[in-house]
Formats: sequence, C-alpha cells, structure tokens
Amino acid sequence: MNIPPDDNLVATEDACPTCGQRHIDRLVWIEDGQRVRCAACLNIYMPPNRRPEGGDAHAAPTQ
Ligand SMILES: [Zn+2]
Repeated sequence: MNIPPDDNLVATEDACPTCGQRHIDRLVWIEDGQRVRCAACLNIYMPPNRRPEGGDAHAAPTQ
C-alpha cells in the first residue's frame, strides 16, 4: 500500500504513545508548549520532535 505523505499526520515517533493517534487535529499542544494532549484518549505526553516554533526554543541554561 502506498500512502502519500499526509500533512495532517505527525511523525510516527510523535504519535500518541497510548493509542497511536497521529492526526494533527487530534493532538493539541497544551499551554506549556512542551506537551501534547491526545484528543482521542486524553493522554498527555511530550513528543520527542517537538518544534521550537510558537514558543521559546527550549532555552536550556548553560553554565
Ligand atoms: Zn491517544
């Protein structure tokens, strides 16, 4: 089966770890900009490929 890339799907590794949801409309960034809430199962998780856009780009304090 050849499924063309779908802009409405997040990367496989960013999918909900609980139910595997990948549709971008079902994965909602919560206010801290670090985590995503899955609208399908209400799980909240931190996707490994979170994007820097829309927030500060993970400004880790350097010594
Ligand atoms: Zn889910």
